Amino acid sequence: MPFIPNRVIFEEAAMQYPIAKNMWDLFSSRQNITVEILAGRKRISSVSGGTIKEVHQAAKRTLVVGIRKTLKFQGCRPSAHYQLPLVTGCIGHCEYCYLNTQFGKNPYIRVYVNLYEILEQTALYIAQRQPELTFFEGAAVSDPVPVEPYTGSLARTIHFFAEQEYGRFRFVTKFTDIDSLLDIEHKEKTTVRFSINADHIIRTYEHSTPGLNKRIDAANKVAQAGYPLGFIIGPVILFAGWEKQYQQMFAQLANVLKDQQHSTIAFEVISHRFTVRAKSTIAEVFPDSTLPMDENERKFKYGQFGYGKYIYPPEDMKAISDFFGTQIPYIFPGSSINYII
Ligand code: SF4
Repeated sequence: MPFIPNRVIFEEAAMQYPIAKNMWDLFSSRQNITVEILAGRKRISSVSGGTIKEVHQAAKRTLVVGIRKTLKFQGCRPSAHYQLPLVTGCIGHCEYCYLNTQFGKNPYIRVYVNLYEILEQTALYIAQRQPELTFFEGAAVSDPVPVEPYTGSLARTIHFFAEQEYGRFRFVTKFTDIDSLLDIEHKEKTTVRFSINADHIIRTYEHSTPGLNKRIDAANKVAQAGYPLGFIIGPVILFAGWEKQYQQMFAQLANVLKDQQHSTIAFEVISHRFTVRAKSTIAEVFPDSTLPMDENERKFKYGQFGYGKYIYPPEDMKAISDFFGTQIPYIFPGSSINYII
């Protein structure tokens, strides 16, 4: 089921770009979708009169069509050298989502339509580092797949990277509407990663996202299309029976991917962590959340962006590292583990 926004806001300056024009033609003719043009420096008005949860949910169905003004790309360790700004925000409602810290209570989905300029800038960054390879992450602050039917930005970016000797593109998604990307001549320069988790975590915390089976089926299609494939397992959350559930997840994965070369599959494992700011937003938007966020059971660590986060204590981190460090090579011999953090 494709994402259908309730409200689409076009920044005035975006309207000269073909992607915005096409989106205007599409959405302005649809019933039950409000379209607006936002003049100059005017700010987007939130839905008024609702609870924080209602405002948050309305923002998640609001699509902003804009241009990327700053073309200075942010860093993106550990997964890439730079963030590639195609989209910000996401339609999912995962309780733990890191975007809760980034965008607080107004998490609009924003697409950038000056793609030509963004890719020109990408080429400059690649040129600066060649002959070293430069990696770009297309999902650092978004899940870009649900809006792809409206922008085609991922497809064009995959085409662009196919011609780059020294540039590589990667993005991660929980969404499965990826058929439009399967026939692109990608020349193996783009890695498509799927974010997966134990069934209990998906059902309890990852609202409005496809289930594990669907994600694994989409991953299999991507592998059949010859893309390098990756999985982000995370956030790993320790709950009663976690090892058994993660083993079941691996068994499902291995069953569907049985015909794929394991040597082309890369894993990233990320344990659950939270910031004080994210915790307070989660408490407002998901007041009944059972996410484990007791600071007394965690270790405080300063993060790369200046704010601290609460991670699992060393004994739990060791259990996570031992478990995934053993299971992955056992079930997928020849695959690689990029990191377990
Ligand atoms: Fe956040 Fe990813 Fe969930 Fe979207 S799918 S809400 S980006 S965690």
